[in-house]
Amino acid sequence: MSVYCNIFSTYRYIAILMSFALLVMAITAEVMAKKTSYHNKKIIILDPGHGGHDKGVQGMNGTYEKALSLKLANIIAKELKDKYRVFLTRTDDYWLDIPSRIDAANHLKADLFISIHFGGSFLHKASGICIYYYKEISGSANILEKATLKTIKSNNIQTQWHNIQNRHKTTSHVLAESVKNRINEHIEFAKCKVQGAPALVLSGADMPAVVMEAGYISNPADEKELKDAKVLSNFAKSISKGIEDFFKTHN
Ligand SMILES: [Zn+2]
Repeated sequence: MSVYCNIFSTYRYIAILMSFALLVMAITAEVMAKKTSYHNKKIIILDPGHGGHDKGVQGMNGTYEKALSLKLANIIAKELKDKYRVFLTRTDDYWLDIPSRIDAANHLKADLFISIHFGGSFLHKASGICIYYYKEISGSANILEKATLKTIKSNNIQTQWHNIQNRHKTTSHVLAESVKNRINEHIEFAKCKVQGAPALVLSGADMPAVVMEAGYISNPADEKELKDAKVLSNFAKSISKGIEDFFKTHN
């Protein structure tokens, strides 16, 4: 009887050990899978424009571009965080120069960079959403380039990878179109268009990159729309869907 008991105990001991080993193997496999899938995820950099002393455009009802760009970036990041590794160049109200914004994206070897801004005009009726991809224009610089050049010169800074964006301009154009299509599908307060521009904020980005002017906050009607949490959430969802569309065709 005692012999059978000993054999039974030994089998039970081995069975417990095997179960434990299988459990450890399963957990290790799961951890490794999670780790691998995390590192395989595309890296997206969202760049909320302005910050700190640089307030950007101010709306008639007190909306600051620096605050709204950060708010929109945070909502987009929440939308995308399960499928992608999303980072913001700034996460609070402080100022960053342009090279620091681009350097962060280049050092992380990001797969996509979106700088988020809002438009401003003395003409309060001015409206619309525009997504810019990098395009060198010989001769006269446009407003966007002049503003960026002024910032760079006044702070005595240089972009490290000047014009490297040229190698990505076709895919950046596709990215701009993907996001535009989704915005025009779901957003009613303004029409979105795509335009090439020699924007220095893009010139040093070594990945598909665009700048968004996500509506005119100098237009009181558009400012009201953008202050609406539901509108802003729909806007963020549209942008996120546009990014997902882009990655479906550009892995
Ligand atoms: Zn801006």
